[in-house]
Amino acid sequence: MTEKKKILIVGAGVSGITVSVQLIQRGMDVTLIDNSVNHCSRIAAGMVNPLVFRRMTKSWRVDEFIPFLKDFYSSLEKDTETHFFYPVPIRRLFSTEDERRLWEKKQFRDDFSNYMEHITPEDLSYSRTKNPFGSGRLKNTFFINTEAFLSAGKHYVMTNGALNLTNFNYDQLVGTKYDDKVYDDIIFCEGYLGKENPWFGDLPLNQTKGEMLTIETESLPEDESVNRKCFILPIGNHQFKTGSTYEWNTNTTHTTPEARLEILEKVSYLHDGPVKVVSQSAGIRPTTKDRRPLIGTHPEHPNYHIFNGLGTKGYMLAPLLSLEFTNFLLDGKQLDAEVSITRFDPSI
Ligand SMILES: Cc1cc2nc3c(=O)[nH]c(=O)nc-3n(C[C@H](O)[C@H](O)[C@H](O)COP(=O)(O)OP(=O)(O)OC[C@H]3O[C@@H](n4cnc5c(N)ncnc54)[C@H](O)[C@@H]3O)c2cc1C
Repeated sequence: MTEKKKILIVGAGVSGITVSVQLIQRGMDVTLIDNSVNHCSRIAAGMVNPLVFRRMTKSWRVDEFIPFLKDFYSSLEKDTETHFFYPVPIRRLFSTEDERRLWEKKQFRDDFSNYMEHITPEDLSYSRTKNPFGSGRLKNTFFINTEAFLSAGKHYVMTNGALNLTNFNYDQLVGTKYDDKVYDDIIFCEGYLGKENPWFGDLPLNQTKGEMLTIETESLPEDESVNRKCFILPIGNHQFKTGSTYEWNTNTTHTTPEARLEILEKVSYLHDGPVKVVSQSAGIRPTTKDRRPLIGTHPEHPNYHIFNGLGTKGYMLAPLLSLEFTNFLLDGKQLDAEVSITRFDPSI
């Protein structure tokens, strides 16, 4: 049996919550701290989409991530007696004839059979949105109600460990002592604010701002999410989340009129009717140039660890990667070389 360790986790976004849940389930004594400064995990659309439409390829390690996240979120729903994880069909409206032809080829391949429906005559003549090149339907696609997930996750940690809604001050961490308590390990899951971290701040973490709108309209489909140039995700009562934008090298989290216009213009490629903007939100994604997370242990401080850089797909990646990180931390199992921070310094 693994000894019961005292573990401090900084950051209660999807990273910090999934890591906390995994460690609690392995019997660890977990304290989670969060200052609620960045709302990235909260404002995210929370969609799980297995394909990258630009090249019509599968998303990285999707065959492992999707089955695992289904079990993870469903079991957390049971444990917390809440509901936040829903299947949602996604319909891709093709941008070009070439894109449609590519889908038609790939839909017969075994490795895509879990994710692509075969195109039907109805898909080609789909007319519930503007649609010049026909459409294809995806399988194994989901939506996480992010607000409900975050409050369920925090509640789980509060019940089975400890949750402190306060700032973590780096200069108060002396060795492994913080706030008069000594921990075995400290795990930093600070999202884009990890740039400020005195031990891991040199890692190549980028800040990619994103904005989203919630819109209301009577004339968009409410039983599926549609996607071309932007996504439109039904959330009930004729309301839809839509977006998002990408802005690099900024650490401001306020919403802008430019982003609102950009998103509304993209919506207009799909839909002509009147649209009311209900709300607008912004957050900063923790991204990396090679599009892989930053996970591992500090080379000189063996009790300090990082779980960050989940980029644009935190809700898809976090469940399985948090398990792999837990196995690394508690059992010494190797991390996937693609996520390990050792890729930036092989001597670590
Ligand atoms: C517009 C938009 C749309 C998105 N849509 C999707 C989507 O559909 N699907 C998907 O999978 N992903 C989506 N994402 C990406 C997803 O949101 C991120 O991958 C994910 O939220 C990153 O989670 P995180 O926990 O690493 O970081 P965060 O969510 O940023 O969490 C970090 C937490 O740490 C706290 N913190 C930091 N420093 C300290 C400190 N010193 N003391 C205490 N607390 C601290 C912060 O306040 C924050 O609460 C979207 C992102 C954006 C911006």
